[in-house]
Amino acid sequence: MSTEATVFFPTLLSALKVGAHTLGNRMVMGSMHTRLESLDRSIDRLSLFYAERARGGAGLIVTGGYAPCQDGLLDETGPLLVTTEQADALKPIPQAVHAEGGKIILQILHTGRNAKVARPVGASEIPSPINPRAPRALSTAEVWQTIEDYVRCAELAQRAGFDGVEIMGSEGYLLNQFTVTRTNNRSDEFGGSMENRHHLPVEIVRRTRERVGPQFLLMYRVSALDLVEGGAPAAEIIQLAQAVQAADADIINTGIGWHEARIPTIAYVVPRAAWRFAAARIKKAVTIPVIVSNRINTPDLAEEILASGDADMVSMARPFLADADFVRKAAEGRANEINTCIACNQACLDYIFSERPATCLVNPRAGRELEFSLLPPKAVPRKVAVVGAGAAGLACAVTAAERGHAVTLFEAGHEIGGQLNLARAVPGKQEFNELLRYFKQGVARHGVTLKLNTRADAPSLVNGHYDRIVVATGVRPRTPQIPGIAHPKVVSYADLLSGRALAGRKVAVIGAGGIGFDVSTFLLHKTPPDGPRPQTVAQFQAEWGVDTSPAAAGGLKPMQPVSAPREVTLLQRKPEKPGRSLGMTTGWALKAELARRGLRTQSGCSYERIDDAGLHLSVNGVPQTLEVDTIVLCAGQDSENALLAELRALGLTPDLIGGAELAAELDALRAIDQGTRLGLAL
Ligand code: NAP
Ligand code: SF4
Repeated sequence: MSTEATVFFPTLLSALKVGAHTLGNRMVMGSMHTRLESLDRSIDRLSLFYAERARGGAGLIVTGGYAPCQDGLLDETGPLLVTTEQADALKPIPQAVHAEGGKIILQILHTGRNAKVARPVGASEIPSPINPRAPRALSTAEVWQTIEDYVRCAELAQRAGFDGVEIMGSEGYLLNQFTVTRTNNRSDEFGGSMENRHHLPVEIVRRTRERVGPQFLLMYRVSALDLVEGGAPAAEIIQLAQAVQAADADIINTGIGWHEARIPTIAYVVPRAAWRFAAARIKKAVTIPVIVSNRINTPDLAEEILASGDADMVSMARPFLADADFVRKAAEGRANEINTCIACNQACLDYIFSERPATCLVNPRAGRELEFSLLPPKAVPRKVAVVGAGAAGLACAVTAAERGHAVTLFEAGHEIGGQLNLARAVPGKQEFNELLRYFKQGVARHGVTLKLNTRADAPSLVNGHYDRIVVATGVRPRTPQIPGIAHPKVVSYADLLSGRALAGRKVAVIGAGGIGFDVSTFLLHKTPPDGPRPQTVAQFQAEWGVDTSPAAAGGLKPMQPVSAPREVTLLQRKPEKPGRSLGMTTGWALKAELARRGLRTQSGCSYERIDDAGLHLSVNGVPQTLEVDTIVLCAGQDSENALLAELRALGLTPDLIGGAELAAELDALRAIDQGTRLGLAL
């Protein structure tokens, strides 16, 4: 019998020499500005946040971006590193990471014309489509000063104890603005020819190396694909990578797409590893290690990419929000225990862009490590009943069981998941399967007694002599009071998405909230009977106009037309444009995808009646009839909490969470957060 231990993910978990450093594995926790940087006790919060990820095994961590000068700030409160006092204040961060055996580098980010400050600066006076503030072009002397600012910032990071710096050259920020003709029409030594446009980043790398010495890790993040008109062709990107290597960078990271690009790069609609080709072509052209990034969220996929030779390391940012122990679980053969990032952006990027600190939909602890670490460490074991195995009930039951409580989870349906099962039926939302898998293994691993097909009633719960009863019975779809609502043409979103009802060729959708858009997505895609499949990378590239040929400037080509199996009209009563409630960083892509499939939307509706002819309504007072085969109700939900009153009538004081407590604006984010917090407090 062999005594050799199984080695999981042998390439991903193998060491790598990068410059003067040896990294323990090939996993980089990519940079993410968390907005923790501007909160009270920010250093404590950040130190704990990064230390947990180092303890969880990340081979290398990159901080959020720090501006090297006032002009480079993200916004007026953005992080800045220009003084020795600021550097000294950052010291606890690398100390905390080093204490866990990790390595951490600081990202230097100058946002250029994207800065949300009174008068941003840029390569030229070409305004950004995503910033109403017009930029001022840096003078030649100011560009040289900016180079010095970068070098000084790197020195300060070294003083603070970081292992190196990442020089941010992608995503359409200042250095990227210099490298392409889209934003650079200068006539000095930093504009015109390709060499001149590359002069600024290359000079920064060269001078930084001179000043920080060979031990300090120097990473350059190159824009491997700009995805904007006037962006660079592959040949220029490769030459920049080669020039950066020649200037003595240790490693090249890759970024995909400018912030103003109209092609989604990391949202759930993007297939996994859609951008590996862009890193692979840089990898072929340089000898220093190259990092692949964007929409890689499992160790299996990371292993496959590395083993194929397309890259030397894999960067993941959001997956480390979702699970700080990603690497450790992979290394210990517990990959199925990883809480996988579902690419929803709801609690990370949507929060960050609305000026809230980042956290994670599937992991409410992320970014709140300080707050969560203050909770009582171990509970007195109790007998707990949780009624309802939707997102809130699952989060509560698994968290409580993990803390040592004896938990029984009752579910009236034949499977766990509740509304999560409806979400995963929507094309593009297959990542919800990972969340279900995570909860399933959590239920089994922590010994939750699961009772499916069991509608727990008040008397049986009383007889069970539970110390705590948690009502997480969720929601039921709201049925609006419209004459003819019982007509056979009318179906609920729950019946449609669960396969209990079918839709005809012409469909009206009542209610344009998140679920109305989800249902429209479902109706406008051809879905196989056994559920939707993710788009292939080739389909995604064709639909969104991504050109992988080396000559394509910015990696763009015309979008290929797509067809839809139905005609769908999405309706709402409010006068505003439908879609306001969708996620800030994902809603635009969803709306674009549906518009290509012919979705019609209508605001200002008043529903009159439903009959054999279809849906009669008036739009801004003008009567009309939508001659449709099916009308899908997506008019919100009401709480399903009758059990609460029954329990109270028997003198019990149950806890109430999730949609059962409040149906309005219920989503998985609130449900998991509330369930987890109650599970910790029981
Ligand atoms: P919702 O966002 O509240 O939308 C319900 C829609 O129904 C509204 O458009 C509302 O608009 C309409 N409505 C409400 N009462 C009605 C009535 N009596 N008659 C006719 N129309 C009525 O709820 P949801 O779409 O069910 O989504 C539930 C939650 O899940 C929300 O928090 C949502 O954000 C979240 N979710 C998010 C996503 C996402 O992509 N991020 C996806 C799915 C769900 P009018 O009153 O103007 O007609
Ligand atoms: Fe991933 Fe969503 Fe969590 Fe962001 S909020 S890290 S996208 S699961």
